[in-house]
Amino acid sequence: NLSEKLDKALHVLKGHGQITEINVAETIKEVRRALLDADVNFKIAKEFTNRVKEKALGENVLTTLQPGQLMVKIVKDQLTQLMGGDAEGINLSGNPSVILMSGLQGSGKTTFSGKLASFLKNKKTKKPLLVACDVYRPAAVDQLHVVGEQVGVEVYSDKGNTDPVAIAKAGIAHAKQNGNNVVIIDTAGRLAVDEQMMKEIAEIHKAITPEETLFVVDAMTGQDAVNTAKAFNDVLNFDGVILTKLDGDTRGGAAISIKSVVDKPIKFIGTGEKMDAIDVFYPARMADRILGMGDVVSLVERAQEQYDEEEARKLQKKIAKNQFGFDDFLSQIQQIKKMGSMKDLLEMIPGAGKALKGIDIDDDAFKHVEAIIHSMTPDERTTPTVLNASRKKRIAKGSGRTVQEVNQLLKQFDQMSKMMKMMQGGGGRQMMQMMGK
Ligand code: GDP
Ligand code: MG
Repeated sequence: NLSEKLDKALHVLKGHGQITEINVAETIKEVRRALLDADVNFKIAKEFTNRVKEKALGENVLTTLQPGQLMVKIVKDQLTQLMGGDAEGINLSGNPSVILMSGLQGSGKTTFSGKLASFLKNKKTKKPLLVACDVYRPAAVDQLHVVGEQVGVEVYSDKGNTDPVAIAKAGIAHAKQNGNNVVIIDTAGRLAVDEQMMKEIAEIHKAITPEETLFVVDAMTGQDAVNTAKAFNDVLNFDGVILTKLDGDTRGGAAISIKSVVDKPIKFIGTGEKMDAIDVFYPARMADRILGMGDVVSLVERAQEQYDEEEARKLQKKIAKNQFGFDDFLSQIQQIKKMGSMKDLLEMIPGAGKALKGIDIDDDAFKHVEAIIHSMTPDERTTPTVLNASRKKRIAKGSGRTVQEVNQLLKQFDQMSKMMKMMQGGGGRQMMQMMGK
């Protein structure tokens, strides 16, 4: 994939090897090849590498102290620029604010509608309403209802009504009556760009003049994604792009090309089928990710978002007083589970993506840990030092795990306590350094 190829291209430069004019030129060539392989449009790739070359010459890469790092930075900055520079938020000032979803069938509109509803609902000031305007497949309406139920957001639908414009309007009226300040309109798509679909979405667009028209596209479709984006943009002049399925083995080329071709920002990305697999799109982080530097900032942010501040404060006090026990450990596990699957989280750590390739991270491991902790008495949980051989045996029996596993957990617990102590002392920086390895 692109990440690996660029990683390889920049390998010489990232390392401490000698840098010469020859390997700068060679690197630039490799970068271009990597982009082309990732389905980045030829012209864009060429322009890109030309800019990188110019910058490298302009900044006299070869005469600087750390030419490799500077070169990586130049590539990263240019990639960031190419994908839009700064992150662009979603514009929601109306009451209600109407958001229209567009895109081909299977691109992830319905799924993303649910994710966005949940994302906005979590902001507390928003009370979204989902509206089902896919009139062709009854199953699509049901799907949106399932999604709405999952995220606890009301869904407006009118099965039997075959006029999507009428449903959209009725949905907005419903929102006004019910105090919904955001309306997310899910629409029908077809397998390929065709006239009727375009006509229909254009009619809905015209009738409801949405504040945000979003174009949803499957990142795995490569160069096609760019062509589809262009076709929809010609008709809708949409406000932003949603890039879905970035969790798969995507080639990443779409993220790079789309912005250049339609000149519209990518606003969100979808990174999984679950309702919490949504992230604001940050070009710089995407560039990091593409370059294989991981996505530490996203990881930290996600952790912050899901983390209950109150809990965190209590925990901090406990750690400071050396009172961190297994009950706290248990609630930590619960917190981690809230953030998504362990694998998703680990993959955001720099370098981990590669290391984890092909390894199946078992979320069940948590279940075992929980079982062991549940088999401990309250005393044992607060003061694990009392755990002698016979107690461990009892716990193992009670939880259906082995004594070895109990021991292993005790050891991990001990390490974790130490690490927490360290973070108390040295702040998050040490933690970040550890994660970097
Ligand atoms: P729609 O036809 O545009 O409404 O697309 P759907 O929302 O029904 O999504 C089509 C398929 O893609 C479903 O199986 C979704 O679960 C899946 N999907 C949507 N977004 C993502 C994503 O970000 N990652 C992954 N892996 N699958 C996704
Ligand atoms: Mg759908």
